Amino acid sequence: MVLTAQAKMAEDADAGPDGRYRVLLPHSISPGMPKAGARIHHWRGLCMGTHWEVRCVPAADLSPSQEQDLYRQLQAELDAINAEMSHWQGDSALMRYNRAAPGTWHPVSPAFLQVLKFGLQVAQESDGAFDPAAGDLVNLWGFGAQAQAPQTPPSAQQVAACLQQRGQWRQIQIDLAGARILQPGAVVLDFSAIAKGYAVDALAACLHKHHIRHYLLEVGGELRGSGMKPDGMPWWVGLESLPGEISGEMPWLLGLHGLAVATSGDYRRFFIHDGKRYAHTIDPRSGYPCADHDGQVAGVCVVHAECMAADAYATALYVLGAQAGLRFADRHGLCARFLLRGDTKAQPEWREVCSQAWHRMASD
Ligand code: AMP
Ligand code: MG
Repeated sequence: MVLTAQAKMAEDADAGPDGRYRVLLPHSISPGMPKAGARIHHWRGLCMGTHWEVRCVPAADLSPSQEQDLYRQLQAELDAINAEMSHWQGDSALMRYNRAAPGTWHPVSPAFLQVLKFGLQVAQESDGAFDPAAGDLVNLWGFGAQAQAPQTPPSAQQVAACLQQRGQWRQIQIDLAGARILQPGAVVLDFSAIAKGYAVDALAACLHKHHIRHYLLEVGGELRGSGMKPDGMPWWVGLESLPGEISGEMPWLLGLHGLAVATSGDYRRFFIHDGKRYAHTIDPRSGYPCADHDGQVAGVCVVHAECMAADAYATALYVLGAQAGLRFADRHGLCARFLLRGDTKAQPEWREVCSQAWHRMASD
């Protein structure tokens, strides 16, 4: 199943019952505006089993051939990331590493090193709630690349066996100078929780190389914005309301001015077995999907300057759950919002809890 946009363009966003929004904006505004009335160039395409979209305002309008050229570069950038980090492509660097014999070293690109290094940092910080080597568990639960639509959970014995046999992210070694990584044995990397965010940052870097400072980018629902639109407004995106969500709260509108937003949750990829919902995000500490834990978190949204960080932390916070996740977010200064399902009888309405950084950005 394909992940689709989890935050929507403001034009499509639903306003509250009285037509109003709550607004999140960065603390500082960088100078520089596109020319009033300048054209917004717009491309979209497919990559990583999902879609991407770029809107940007160059300093001067691009000619049709420049436009075509830039489009090709953006697509090539994404294809290169996919060819290295995809667990859907059997010949990607990541899949070759996953199949490799214990004790072998593997040359990888600077991009791969950067993603792995940051993934391991978040794994360390979250004490393994985020795990860039959760691929074996993801496969066991039927959410991996080879899987058909998953229907039945594995048995408790299968989960226990997988937990026992799994390779550990703590044993992965990185040789930065030699640009290579060690397969300690049985480590199954899965960058799905971080690679889309990295891809968004890579698109931003590509536009910066072309001196383009005003843009809104998306890869599979993770977004990053910079500068302004030609109408002098920031790139607004609305946070999507969830299927069946009933809430008295006004919807959020985020001004992505030097900011990225990523969302993790159980409402897009999941299966239901015996009336229980199994999310595609697995808690590697228990071996089970993050189901109905701790206040029934349906989704977590993280706003950060870098999309890779927003992506990884959104997944980490979703696994940690509302209580531990909120403590983690406040300890690390993360701007995060948790959306909690109501308990159908006593508390039918959806609720949200937000980190201190979110409240600060919202109130300024
Ligand atoms: P996201 O949608 O960014 O939260 O990423 C979820 C995807 O990351 C899943 O579909 C899995 O492929 C993978 N994944 C599942 N559990 C974890 C975890 N605990 N840490 C890191 N990646 C995970
Ligand atoms: Mg993520």
